[in-house]
Amino acid sequence: MSFAEIMKATGVEINYYFVCKRKLWFFTHGINMEHNSTRVEIGKEVHEQSFSRNKKEIMIDNLICLDFIDKKLVINETKLTKSMQKATKYQILYYIYYLEKKGIEGVTGVIHYPKSKRKDTILLTDQDRKVLDKTIKSIYAIKYQTTPPPIENDKKCKKCSYYELCYC
Ligand code: SF4
Repeated sequence: MSFAEIMKATGVEINYYFVCKRKLWFFTHGINMEHNSTRVEIGKEVHEQSFSRNKKEIMIDNLICLDFIDKKLVINETKLTKSMQKATKYQILYYIYYLEKKGIEGVTGVIHYPKSKRKDTILLTDQDRKVLDKTIKSIYAIKYQTTPPPIENDKKCKKCSYYELCYC
């Protein structure tokens, strides 16, 4: 696995950590069901439509897409709803942190919600760096568990691509 692939996996892992620890365990054990999720497909389509006209962009490590907006470097992400806001926020913060470690500073993030015509700006703070360092350690601990964490039994489960696996 290349370094970019590892980083990509870690970005998804950070996201899943904040969504559901059980989902994270499935993913890190090679059980991937996102291709079954219609919501994932719709999300990708909305993102592509939103940014297809933006020509000023660069891709780093085939992983992080940076847009130039007013001479600033921005990671843009588009979401249908705010339901997984914290997970999306920390995934972007992780990419900003990753770029900072590569010597690319001053990157910010924006999460767009086209349905509600709203957007959130994401800025990396010292507190976020501490949270991310701790999160990576926790992700490793979950990865090496021999059995998955318990079912969360939450309303988000009904929209989760692993629903059948947890509740069949
Ligand atoms: S269905 Fe619920 S418990 Fe199972 S992985 Fe998804 S969010 Fe987690």
